[in-house]
Amino acid sequence: MSQDSGQPVDRSQALPPLAELIACHECDLLMHHPHIGEEQKACCPRCGYEMIVHRTQMRRRSLALAITALLLFIPANFLPIMSLNLLGQNAVDTVWSGVVGLYHSGMQPVALVVFLCSMLIPLLKLVCQLLVLLSMPFKAMRPLGIQLYRTYHHLREWGMLEVYLFGILVSIVKLIDLADLHLGVGMACFIAMMLAQVWLEVSMSPHQVWDALSEEEDGHART
Ligand SMILES: [Zn+2]
Repeated sequence: MSQDSGQPVDRSQALPPLAELIACHECDLLMHHPHIGEEQKACCPRCGYEMIVHRTQMRRRSLALAITALLLFIPANFLPIMSLNLLGQNAVDTVWSGVVGLYHSGMQPVALVVFLCSMLIPLLKLVCQLLVLLSMPFKAMRPLGIQLYRTYHHLREWGMLEVYLFGILVSIVKLIDLADLHLGVGMACFIAMMLAQVWLEVSMSPHQVWDALSEEEDGHART
């Protein structure tokens, strides 16, 4: 992917129209909106932040990843993550059974946080992303797409699959010497779902999504 640098605005002259300007998200440097082609990106000349990236087939690629992640959601949460054999007692754990276990052992607030951050919010995020991608080509659905994409940005900070995965890995490391431990299909699905989500976040270039959602004409050409 080739790289281009934005052109900083000369403050001694009159400012061009707002539509032709762009500000760096990291250091607020004001620049002329760079014109970039397929598979090109524009970075801030001051701090190096990647401001705009134009990916080819962004919508199709992202749709495939969103559907993959959604298909993996049920097995990742309801199939066994690990089975544990300790002193003759066998236990099979899923993400959902972990939430239920916390709830019944008197830790309802923790159960609620785990349920929200590892199940409900990641699911809502994926549904929002899927609906945003589906709404892009249809002019009548774009206002809804804009609302959903805003909601997705609010939800982003609350989905913590990575933290949950680290929690699982730490418990595996701690338990591996004490008990007979086997990883289940759920673990593979959980990791695959997380990777699909990370890839989806990288593929869904925000500038391309906002451009496609705010276009007046048919958006096929730019997605
Ligand atoms: Zn910058």
